[in-house]
Amino acid sequence: MLTATDRIAAVTDTLDLDAIAAAAELLAHAQHAVALAGAGMSKESGIPTFRGEGGLWTRLGEPPLNQYETFAADPRRWWERRLEEAQQPNEFAGALEAAEPNPGHVALAELEAMGVLGHLITQNIDDLHRRAGQRAITEIHGNRHWMRCTACGTRWPRDEITIDPQSLPPHCLESACGGIVKNDTVMFGEPIPFGALLTCERETDQADCFLTIGTSAVVYPAAQYPVDAVRRGVPLIEVNPEETPLSEIASVIVRAPSGEALPRIVAAVRARRAAAGRAP
Ligand SMILES: [Zn+2]
Repeated sequence: MLTATDRIAAVTDTLDLDAIAAAAELLAHAQHAVALAGAGMSKESGIPTFRGEGGLWTRLGEPPLNQYETFAADPRRWWERRLEEAQQPNEFAGALEAAEPNPGHVALAELEAMGVLGHLITQNIDDLHRRAGQRAITEIHGNRHWMRCTACGTRWPRDEITIDPQSLPPHCLESACGGIVKNDTVMFGEPIPFGALLTCERETDQADCFLTIGTSAVVYPAAQYPVDAVRRGVPLIEVNPEETPLSEIASVIVRAPSGEALPRIVAAVRARRAAAGRAP
């Protein structure tokens, strides 16, 4: 039977330690790193991916591309369907409920607390980054535990919105607004909230190091941010077990799951900063 030490050694054997050291070296000198996280991080917490082998949509078919159009045409009917669906067993919802932050989520939150990571842009809706302690975060596809007004863009935790089946759809809590409220998660065909896009662009412009983690970076606008950063001469670190379209412009590639790679990278950053007499 393997002991804990054996297991760490076994993991280390499969990791590219030179790549981890190179990533740590870049981050140790960064003051406002920006990270883009994708479905790979959620997958390591047991949440099924949508696309790719075994993905939810690969098996069950993609949702209709006009989801948002359907909602906008008849929000009341859309809400009625959501309430009906909530009564039925759902594999994805079950996996989301059961998911816990993994060591990769925790490591990213530590990198923020150390003053290295300035902002996290995530494509994940599962709330695991927040639960791990991440604070500066833009969820470009929304958060499943939040609701959002389609008129003014205000967001609230789901529990703060009363959903009365006799009075659908729910309306904005800002009395002067009166807009229709929907889930915060962004549907197919729905524009990403403008404020979120502005924040991502501003953060990307400020980045002095950029990380992509567990994302194949093929979905826009997220795919554009690392490209924009690299164009300004900012180094890109890719953490992903698979090759992606960004691999060819990355300065450092760590070919490993984030839950294995990130804790080691963050430990190495901490050691470098301590050695340089900076705050750990
Ligand atoms: Zn509103």
